[in-house]
Amino acid sequence: MVDIIDPGHSYLLLTLDGELKQTLTFVKRCDRQNPKRFPGNFNSYPGTTVQSVVRCLLERMRYLQRQVWCLENVFVIFCLKWVLWLMEFRAARRHRRLYLKSLHYAENQPLCLSCGHTLCDCGQLIQEMTKILIENDKNGR
Ligand SMILES: [Zn+2]
Repeated sequence: MVDIIDPGHSYLLLTLDGELKQTLTFVKRCDRQNPKRFPGNFNSYPGTTVQSVVRCLLERMRYLQRQVWCLENVFVIFCLKWVLWLMEFRAARRHRRLYLKSLHYAENQPLCLSCGHTLCDCGQLIQEMTKILIENDKNGR
């Protein structure tokens, strides 16, 4: 059981070995012009994404695996990689795109700072802008 602050968006996490109020808050979006985009959301606030949390969990599992190797960790890491890939596949499908990328890509490609996915139109724009900035920096502009 988890303590729910705002269903689907904000949670109070279990803390061990001390008192630390730790919340996990996912982004909450609301589109008043098109309420069907985010059904049930009547307000918005910033927060993280499932993909970002899963990437943290992967890092944590790899750390634990380096500490004490075990077969269960291998399966957990494998499943978490699939979760990332499925989240990206789902997003691509919803935007009528194909996600023909590897598990490695879904895990390691930088996340778009606008939509939080590895494959999107806004991500391509950011990557193109980054390339231009890097080129300009190389050329001393
Ligand atoms: Zn994007």
